[in-house]
This record gives sequence, C-alpha cells and structure tokens, in this order.
Amino acid sequence: MPVRTRIAPSPTGAPHVGTAYMALFNLAFARKNGGQMILRIEDTDQSRSSNESETAIMESLQWLGIEWDEGPDKDGKFGPYRQSERKNIHAQHVQILRDKGHAYPCFCTANRLKDVRSEQMAKKETPRYDGHCLHLSQEEVENKITAGEKFVIRLKVPTDGECCFTDELRGEVKIDWKQIDHQILQKSDGYPTYHLANVVDDHLMRITHVIRGEEWISSTPKHVLLYKYFDWDTPIFAHLPLLRNPDKSKLSKRKNPTGINYYRDAGFLPEVISNYLGTMGYTLPDQREIFSIEELTQSFDIRRVSLGGPIFDLAKLKWLNGRYLREKLSEKEVVERMIDWKINSGFIQKIIPHALQRLENFSDFMPLSGFLFQDYPELELSSLIGKFDASDASKLIKTCEWELEKLAPWNRHQICKLFQNLAEKEDKKLKEILPLFFQVISGESVSLPLFDSIEILGPDLARLRLRKALEFLTSEGFGLSKKGLKSLEKDYRQKYGDRID
Ligand code: GLU
Repeated sequence: MPVRTRIAPSPTGAPHVGTAYMALFNLAFARKNGGQMILRIEDTDQSRSSNESETAIMESLQWLGIEWDEGPDKDGKFGPYRQSERKNIHAQHVQILRDKGHAYPCFCTANRLKDVRSEQMAKKETPRYDGHCLHLSQEEVENKITAGEKFVIRLKVPTDGECCFTDELRGEVKIDWKQIDHQILQKSDGYPTYHLANVVDDHLMRITHVIRGEEWISSTPKHVLLYKYFDWDTPIFAHLPLLRNPDKSKLSKRKNPTGINYYRDAGFLPEVISNYLGTMGYTLPDQREIFSIEELTQSFDIRRVSLGGPIFDLAKLKWLNGRYLREKLSEKEVVERMIDWKINSGFIQKIIPHALQRLENFSDFMPLSGFLFQDYPELELSSLIGKFDASDASKLIKTCEWELEKLAPWNRHQICKLFQNLAEKEDKKLKEILPLFFQVISGESVSLPLFDSIEILGPDLARLRLRKALEFLTSEGFGLSKKGLKSLEKDYRQKYGDRID
C-alpha cells in the first residue's frame, strides 16, 4: 500500500508555525517513502472557520516550499478535501455506527451536563458523560425526536479495561477507558465533530500514517475505537513533540511570534524557516545544521525524532538566517531577495500616497517610513505613554491587542472602526488615545497616518508591536499583574463581547 500522510489544519486563524512543522515532517516522511501528502481542511467548526484563513494557510505553506499532492486546490481521487463539503459522507457514517449500536442519541440539556460535571469534579473524578441517554429505549428515542427535542450523537465507550495502541515514537500507549468520554460525534446541527470526521476522512482518503502533534494522544483511543467499530484497519500513529518557548512552556504568541506570516513580513528567508523547523526534535544523520527540504527528505527517518520538547528559539533562527544570507546566497541574490521582500515598487507605492504630503525631497522618505520596514521599533517610556498613566497605557494596549486579534478583514476602514470603538468603550476621545498607538506602531510621535500604517504593516507585524510595547512596559515596571490581567479580561468580555484569541 503506498504511503499516504496528511496535514489537516483547521482554518480558524492565522497560519501557525506548528502547522508548518507538522506539514514538513509529514512531507519528508511521505516523500522518503515514495508516497503522497494530502492537505485536508478541517472546517467542521463553522463558526470559527473562514475562507481567508484557509487561503492564508495554503499560501504560507507554499511560501515555505511545502507542497502537497492532493488538496482543495489539487484534485485527487479522494476529494472533496474540505470537510464542510463532506457533511453527507460523515452523516452516513454516523448512521452506520447507530445501526451497529456503537453510537446513540443523547438529549441531555446543557444544564444537566453542567451538574453532572460539577458532581464528578467534586468527587475528583475525570469529568465525562455519565451515559444517561445510553439506556433509552427505541420508543423513548423516537418520541423525543418526534417531540422536536434537540439531540447529539455520542460514541459508546467501554466501561472497563484499557485502550492499547502503538505510537511509532513511544511504543505501546495504554489509556484507561474510564478516562475517555462518550465523545459527541455529531452535533445537534448535524455537523460532525473533529473526531468522527477525522477518522472517516483518514480512512476514505487512504491515509496510512497519521503524523500529528502530541496534544492528540489523549484523543487517539476514541479514534482507535471508531476504526474498530467501522471494521477498518487503524493507520500507524506518530505523535510529534510540540514546539516550545525557550522557557519550555508550549509555544505561544505571548512569548514568540507564532504566525508564519510574521516571519515573511519581518524579512526571514522561507528556506531558513523550513530548515529551522526541520531541526525541531530532529538531527540529520550527519548532524548538518544547514539543509534544504530535499536534503531533509533524502535521509528522513521518523524514528530519529526525539521526544524532548524542541525549543523554537527566535535568537537561533535569526542567527541561522544571517548564516544563510552570508553563506548560501550571493550578494546579487541577497539584493534580489530584498527586492522581493519589500524594497520594491509595489510596497513603496502603498506608502507614497500617505508620505507624499510630508516629502520635500526623496531623502525624507526613509526617515518617515523606515518603521514600515522594521521588525519593531525601539520605544522610550515618556514618549510612549505621553499623557497616559503607564499602567492605564498597558491596559489600553492589551485591550487593543485583543481587538486586533479578532479583526478581519484587515483594512483601513475596519482598523479605523476598531479604534473609534475602542475610544468610545474606554470613554475617551479618539485623539486622546491615538498618540499612544502612534508610538507603539512607529516609535515616533510624528509619522505616517496610523490606520494606513497598520494596514500596510499587516496583522502579524502590527500585533507584534503591541506585544512588544507591553513587554517594554513590563520591563519598566508597568506591566499587568496576573490579577490585573484577569480582571481586565473580565471587563473586556463584558464590554466587547466574549471572544479572546
Ligand atoms: N484539525 C486538527 C488540527 O487542527 C487536526 C489534528 C490531526 O492531525 O488529527 O490540528
């Protein structure tokens, strides 16, 4: 059977370096074994998925040189490759499980589930569904459905014993069935959940090796059970260690930029990012530090992946990028790559309409717009906060960061609305809050118009500048304490609606 791997990103946000890392290892494994890698978009969470995110994920992987053999844009024999277009296939499979008695409808209300959960927590038990609807008779089920009661479909899970499966990197993994919840397979709106759709699609797309992040280990028993209930062979599982911040915590945007587009916009070379990701938990047999995707592929051996949490260290990445610039590219190539990046007429044309009023001769252009080419600007405390109290400035910047996380589409009009709303909600005039953000974004008190600058910088660089300003205020002793952040978050949810990314 030909080797087939897949990456299955959910298009719910900006493309993440973790997705690229999984994609790279899946690609290397598939290619090394003469197989294929499939891109499947897991957009079953309709409220959080977006087309923009799907496009951005595909473009950023392409930018990194990661290519798939089948996907929404590359038809193969096993499509459609977007789960939202496979709803009927998933529903048919839910029905098969119901017919075989491996899945059952559950009519429990959110309140009942909450009570069960609290009771279990009080008894220090793992919270899980208590099987209340498992014993409803066929007649009771039909009556409830006829009466229009809402229901979900749950997976039947054994009450005793343990689930045993093999992980290519860990050997035998055993998890007690008591730890495993009666997973919802189909929501009341008829959409499948991740678990059902993932297993059905992996099987129908003939995936032989499921190589994914270790956060999915605890879900694997549910998947193993589904394969068994359907009478299908299980694929081989390999759970890769998650990327970590230098302090060993799980890689997070609070401590490291995690968006692939940040690295593009800040002027990193894509081949350096792929090279660096290839060193995460992995060394080539000859210990080479600099290698291409092809070179990684040629000698790739998944058993060489080490399980110690790989550290994604920005300083190391910058060092590697510098080495590439000096050792791998000629001066001519460096110039060409810089031109491709931002030193080109397309990018300068975006700036000119906003800079023109302020130019007397061309040499004014660089001082005026240099911040748009920077990673992030240097800040100085008194200029940054101006008339603001420093702690209030921290709160306002944090609030703005949450708002910017949600902003889509990213354009001047939306950005302007966001700041107007921010001023209104914070009971301030727009012109009172703008100087602070001029500083955060440009490091200057006079610069190009703020909203246009934020649009030109793009989401990744703009949001990073807010985080950098917060980091700077923290280093000056004006950061938000844990308690302060909690209460700000509560206020924020009340004032702005409840989503915080
Ligand atoms: N959609 C899941 C994710 O976003 C895929 C997990 C898997 O590879 O099974 O990570």
